[in-house]
Amino acid sequence: MKEVKIEKCPYCGGEEFIESNVSCTAGEVCVATNSWVRMAVLFATVCRDCGSVVRFFCKTPEKLYPKKERRE
Ligand SMILES: [Zn+2]
Repeated sequence: MKEVKIEKCPYCGGEEFIESNVSCTAGEVCVATNSWVRMAVLFATVCRDCGSVVRFFCKTPEKLYPKKERRE
């Protein structure tokens, strides 16, 4: 997985961020396939100054779509 570097909050210009699991229970991204449902935990990067969620992401995108299944 590629590293994404956020240097400044686009809303307030803040430079401090908190990375947090969105929720322990419902914060998951689900992908339904023909045979089963895949899930990956959703994380958010939150600006410490204004509280804006700058980014949502999964730490395990391969869980949702293994590379070999991606469309070119
Ligand atoms: Zn901010």
